Amino acid sequence: MQVDNLIIGQGVAGTLLAHFLQKAGQSVHLTDQYSEHAASQVAAGIINPITGRRYVKSWRVDDLIPFAKATYRQLEEELGVRIFHERNIIRTLFNSREENDWLARTAEPGYEPYMLDQAVLDTYATRTLLAYSYGEVTQSGQTDLPKLTLAFREKLRKEGAITEAAFDYEALEQTDEGVRYGEITAKRAIFCEGAAGEHNPFFSYLPFGGAKGEVLIVRISEANFEKILKHRVFIVPLAESDLYWIGSTYGWKYDDARPTENGRDYLEQRLRDILQAPFEIVAHRAAIRPTVKDRRPFLGQHPEFPSLFIFNGLGTKGASLGPYWAKHLADHLDQGSPLEEAVDIRRFQ
Ligand SMILES: Cc1cc2nc3c(=O)[nH]c(=O)nc-3n(C[C@H](O)[C@H](O)[C@H](O)COP(=O)(O)OP(=O)(O)OC[C@H]3O[C@@H](n4cnc5c(N)ncnc54)[C@H](O)[C@@H]3O)c2cc1C
Repeated sequence: MQVDNLIIGQGVAGTLLAHFLQKAGQSVHLTDQYSEHAASQVAAGIINPITGRRYVKSWRVDDLIPFAKATYRQLEEELGVRIFHERNIIRTLFNSREENDWLARTAEPGYEPYMLDQAVLDTYATRTLLAYSYGEVTQSGQTDLPKLTLAFREKLRKEGAITEAAFDYEALEQTDEGVRYGEITAKRAIFCEGAAGEHNPFFSYLPFGGAKGEVLIVRISEANFEKILKHRVFIVPLAESDLYWIGSTYGWKYDDARPTENGRDYLEQRLRDILQAPFEIVAHRAAIRPTVKDRRPFLGQHPEFPSLFIFNGLGTKGASLGPYWAKHLADHLDQGSPLEEAVDIRRFQ
């Protein structure tokens, strides 16, 4: 089988890259071994333009968010599933200093589209312990990354464009025309393995970070929360009624990607601190976020092996970064347009 692109990994990175390459008229074949510990299967997929303790706009949000929304809407039409849910984020302000900082930020130019000074709590007002004050973030939402990757995988299956197995790095041959992998020949191989990329023999020289996160899926009957609440943990309504994503922990030191008792206790306790309604834990999950020390994605060509490329390093923000940078890399591969320095892996040479 001959294709233009062999893509390794079908999390949100591999999925979106395949989508844009196909849109450009390029053929793809993916190799992916499903893992319940892949970041895209565990993430809430929150798109949040205002982050951190200082309430600053995330890097490039004015470009990233409209592009992400348009991409997910297009994929929803093509795949026939609901992927993106517009949801404001209620941000808890724990004291007067935080409230003042929030109000000052809302008055700054460029922030008006993303922040409300007065939050509307809806049912959070009666079902959670009230905090000092709240702000509200707009232009935000939740992306159902498991649903996106599953629906895209079904499409790839129908096209005969996916091998569902672990990738054998030793079986990859580099040829004058590109690469050969078993019966597949391709112009190039693009690695999109998420946190597992740190074990990739060609790209392990890159400064992969890795941050483990644990989450709970809980049932809260008749809470009817529509918005996302950011307290000590996030409460995120899921598409299935009465189910909520609670997360997450953030740790640099870990033995593996499995859930731990400490993680579960931490999340359960944080939820008990806020919630004034009974809840039932339905699932407890964990994954490693593919973080990078300079907090910018990894895009581009291997410095020595011209047929090998990477798309990784989406860190804590795969849902908002993924679409824009997947299109950027697809344009580079299809039309030779230059990669931005901030994301090009040549910054590490
Ligand atoms: C707890 C948690 C919460 C998060 N919350 C959010 C959030 O709210 N918003 C947000 O934007 N981001 C969030 N993230 C980050 C987000 O999940 C990641 O940025 C994104 O999912 C990374 O996608 P990826 O495709 O690069 O990697 P992955 O999702 O890990 O996908 C890689 C795929 O490649 C496969 N693979 C790897 N190696 C091989 C191999 N050798 N052979 C075959 N297959 C292979 C894996 O099995 C997997 O299917 C969160 C992450 C975690 C862990």
